[in-house]
Amino acid sequence: MTVLRRSLPSPFGCRWCGIARRSHGRQWIASQGWHAWEQPTNAQILARMRARRAAPKES
Ligand SMILES: [Zn+2]
Repeated sequence: MTVLRRSLPSPFGCRWCGIARRSHGRQWIASQGWHAWEQPTNAQILARMRARRAAPKES
């Protein structure tokens, strides 16, 4: 299965769901329930940047 870059969370997206702060509002996910945007950890940011670099470019 190919993961496209646009389907990956933004490096600075919410630590729980990956949605960017400006479009976050309140979101619901199973593990956290309703939550407001929260800053990702440095390790999360780095891992997301690596994942984006590894993902193929969109054609
Ligand atoms: Zn979130």
